[in-house]
Amino acid sequence: MFIGCCVKNVIVKLTKTVVLKLTTDTDSMLEETIDKFTEGMDYASTIVYANKKPMGAMKLQKLTYEHLRSEIGLKSQMSCNVARQTAGAYKTLQAQIRNGGTKWQLLEFAPTKVKFSYGRDFSINHDEIGITTLEGRQKYVIMNYQYAKQFFDGSWKYQASELVKHKDGNYYFHLVCEKEIKEPDITQATNFMGIDVGINHLAVTFTTEGQCKFFTGGEIKNIRNVYSKQRKRLQEKDTRSATRVLKHQSGREKRFMKDMNHVVSRKIIESAINDGVSVIGLEDLVGIRKRTKVRKKQRYLYSSWAFRELQTFVEYKAHEAGIAVIYVDPRYTSQTCPTCSHISRNNRRGRSFRCEMCGYELNADLVGAMNIEARTRAFRHDLEVQGLAVDSPDETLLDEFQAPSIRRGN
Ligand SMILES: [Zn+2]
Repeated sequence: MFIGCCVKNVIVKLTKTVVLKLTTDTDSMLEETIDKFTEGMDYASTIVYANKKPMGAMKLQKLTYEHLRSEIGLKSQMSCNVARQTAGAYKTLQAQIRNGGTKWQLLEFAPTKVKFSYGRDFSINHDEIGITTLEGRQKYVIMNYQYAKQFFDGSWKYQASELVKHKDGNYYFHLVCEKEIKEPDITQATNFMGIDVGINHLAVTFTTEGQCKFFTGGEIKNIRNVYSKQRKRLQEKDTRSATRVLKHQSGREKRFMKDMNHVVSRKIIESAINDGVSVIGLEDLVGIRKRTKVRKKQRYLYSSWAFRELQTFVEYKAHEAGIAVIYVDPRYTSQTCPTCSHISRNNRRGRSFRCEMCGYELNADLVGAMNIEARTRAFRHDLEVQGLAVDSPDETLLDEFQAPSIRRGN
């Protein structure tokens, strides 16, 4: 990924969580290990809670280690993990408090999972996992999945991972895999894709060769509006059960959007591969709330994390496909005329774009994608002429943009 200034040969980190099922004939040791680990977390939790503010993992470890080892019976590494995770949970709580979402409280943990450190308390190969339980290292057979094979080809590194008891009563190992890849050299790239993410269309893509595609968000917009109305009604009620329903609903909505973003990002990358795209440009959306003025009713939709999530998925899948990703300046992408470069708020009327200078007309979201593509291409151009290290295009460069030739269709 490139942001702002950059150089060639950027290393990108790919992280994947692979869910592996343990064969069903597990012993009671797993259950006991999870129970004791949770007991340890709950114990450490009371210590932080009494402290009335979060504390660092090392400090918490010092305060809890003895008890965790001798009273609860956890292994050494597990005791360290307990401190680290509990400390982390309270840091998250503090962040939520800062956002006004909740108040200081005692956190309790459900006995459904335990985290292990690779090398220290778990080892793994394609059909067997060794876990340090309360009674030392035990081996468990994992189900063989075709798709999981690639993660045992030697190119991945394993990180701290969780053993989780799913609702189906079976144990799964959530193996966190990491791989470093070199982002492709973009100085030779010729075909670029700009992606505009938005409400009317979840995404609009435009390539240097003139291919454009709309990924509609029409139905999504309606569904999210329904969610939004329900939320408002429940918030007004302000009862305990309403709060519970609210929480449940928010989880459902997040999962719904996540699935949708996965589907759309996959389709975008498929089309990028088909069109021979080697660099994808995305808008740098950090600070979207401040920049976008919208009617109150739509604010919820606009200031949404969902756009950023879609971008993140696109970026990840692009890296997997060997496509480079560049984040460009998002200013005026929907107000800049692709043919004469005139920038004006008046160019935009809702969903349509009409340049007040030259009269050029087009769907406004497509104009956004075209401008992002142009900025991405300009970025590459700068790398070429200036010898690799440059800043992302700024406004002075915008004037020099050449309008991309458009071949409509698709
Ligand atoms: Zn114009």
